Amino acid sequence: MGGTFRPWSESDKGSEQEFMPENPISTSRPRVLSGMRPTGKLHLGNYMGALANWVKLQDQYECYFFIADWHALTTDYADPSRVKLNTLDVALDWLAAGLDPEKSTIFIQSHVPQHAELHLLFSMVTPLGWLERVPTYKEQQENITGKDLSTYGFLGYPLLQAADILIYQANYVPVGQDQVAHVELTREVARRFNSLYKSRVFPEPEALLTPSPKVPGTDGRKMSKSYGNTIGLSESPLLVGPKIASMSTNGQRIRQTDPGDPDLCPVGDLHKVFSAPELAQETQVGCRSASLRCEFCKVKAALSIMDIIHPIYLKRRELESRIDETWEMLREQSTKAAARAEETMLTVRNILDLSRDLGSVRRYFGSSAEDIRNAHDLSQHSNWWNLPRDQQAKLLRDYWRNNLVPRDISLTQESQRSFSSIERELEEPFLSAKKKRVLVSSASREASGWHFRIPPKSYEVWTLLCWHPNHWIDDFILPQKVYSLAFARAKKQAKDKPVHLRVWKSGEIWNMEFVGLNMREAVGSAIVAEAMEPIDITEFQSNYDPLQ
Ligand code: SF4
Repeated sequence: MGGTFRPWSESDKGSEQEFMPENPISTSRPRVLSGMRPTGKLHLGNYMGALANWVKLQDQYECYFFIADWHALTTDYADPSRVKLNTLDVALDWLAAGLDPEKSTIFIQSHVPQHAELHLLFSMVTPLGWLERVPTYKEQQENITGKDLSTYGFLGYPLLQAADILIYQANYVPVGQDQVAHVELTREVARRFNSLYKSRVFPEPEALLTPSPKVPGTDGRKMSKSYGNTIGLSESPLLVGPKIASMSTNGQRIRQTDPGDPDLCPVGDLHKVFSAPELAQETQVGCRSASLRCEFCKVKAALSIMDIIHPIYLKRRELESRIDETWEMLREQSTKAAARAEETMLTVRNILDLSRDLGSVRRYFGSSAEDIRNAHDLSQHSNWWNLPRDQQAKLLRDYWRNNLVPRDISLTQESQRSFSSIERELEEPFLSAKKKRVLVSSASREASGWHFRIPPKSYEVWTLLCWHPNHWIDDFILPQKVYSLAFARAKKQAKDKPVHLRVWKSGEIWNMEFVGLNMREAVGSAIVAEAMEPIDITEFQSNYDPLQ
C-alpha cells in the first residue's frame, strides 16, 4: 500500500511499496484500495514508492485511500499520543501532493468501525498457521527491537489488512513486492469465506505491482525515517540544497580529475529518480568523463528535487492555515467510506445470520399477521435504491431468503461459478432440499407492472420478487406446472434469449403473462397482441409450499 504495506504501507517506507484492487456499486471503474500507516510527515521515498502512483491512479480507477491508524497501534500501542497528529500530517501531505477528495475517497480507518467488525469475523475462520507463516511477521519481530510485538494485534494485522481490502470489494491493491504475500493471504481469506458460506460476496483482489525506484537517503542508505536520512516531501526547498551538498559520493571521484561511476553514487541515483532524462544522461556522461564537478552535479540534483517539492510545500502551507477544513473533509469522506463498507457488512451479516432484524427466525416461533407484514418491509435497506441493478437484484434475493423464506425450508446456492453482472441480475440458481432448481428473480415496479427477464433454462420453481417503491416486497413462488406450457411457447418465440414476463395486479388478483420481446421498446398494439393468456398467480403469493 501507500508507502509500505506493513500494516498498510508505513508512511516511513514509501520506496518499498504500495498497493491497488472488484465489485460493483457506484461506478463501473475497477476499484483500487490502498492505505498508509500514519508515521508523520512523508518523505521523498514515500512519495516515489506510493503516493505519486496513487495520484495517477485516481484518474483511472475508483480509488479508496485510507490512513491506517489502527495499524499504527499494532506496533505503537504503548504510546498512541502522536497517532492523530501523524494522521493529519499524512492527510496534509496527500492533499498537497495531489490526492483529490473529488476523485478519491480519502478516509481514516478507525472512523469506519466496519473494518474491525469484518476483521473479527475473519478471525473466526482464519487458521492460525496462515498468519504465522506471513513472511513479514517473523522478520519484523526480529527487526523491530525495543517493542514487545508478541501481541495478537501484531500477529493479526495482515488479517486486518484483508478486512480493509475486502470490505470495499476492491479489485486491485497496489503493493510493493514485500507485500504480495499479504494480498495472497487476502485472496485465501476471501476464498475460504466464500466457500464456507457458499457465497460470492468477496472478490479475490489482485496485487498491482508498482515500480518502486530506489530513493537513497542523504547518507546513501535507503531513505527512511529510522535512519534520519530523509528529505521531506513538504520540506522547505531551501533545506534541500545543503542536505544534498553534504551527501557522500560513496568513494567516487575523490579527486575531481578522476572519472567516477554514477551508478555507485547516491547522487547519481537521485538524478535517475528525480531529474529529466536528458539531465540524468548528462550527469552520467559528465561523471564518467570527469567533465562535471560533483558540487555542480549535486546542485543540479537539488534543483530537480526542488522542482517537485516546491509546489507541494506551498500547497501544504496553505492547507495548514485552515486545518479544520482538512479534518472535516476526512470526517465526511470517512462517513462516505462507512456507507460503502456497511453495504458489504449487510450482506456478510445476512450470510452469518447476524442481521439486525428478527428475520425468518420470527417465523420459527410462530408470528402474527403484523410480523409477517413487517417482514415484507424493506425500509431498513433503503440504500439499495442507489445500487446498480445487479447488486439490487442480489441483495433483494438475499433479503427474501433471509427474511421471508421459512426457517425449515432449506435453500442452497447451486453453483459457485462466476457470474457476469447481467447474469447476476437475471439469476442466481438455488437448490431446495429435494434438489429442485429454484430461480429467484426480482423487478421493481413500473407503470405497467413488474417486468422480469427469465433465462431460457429449466427451473422447477420460479420465485418472482415484486419490489414496490414504498419499500414493500410481494413474493410469488411458482411451481413449474403453473408456467411450463406458456413458458415453452414464449421460449420458442424468444429464440432462446431471456423471456419477458410481466406481472400486474388487477383488484385483488395478481396476473402474469409472457410478452413479445420487443413490447417494451415498441409500445404498439401489434406487439401487445403477442402477449399470451394471463395466468392468475394470486394463490402463490407468499406460499412457500413449492419449495418444500
Ligand atoms: S559527479 Fe555526481 S554522480 Fe558522479 S560522483 Fe560526483 S556527485 Fe556522484
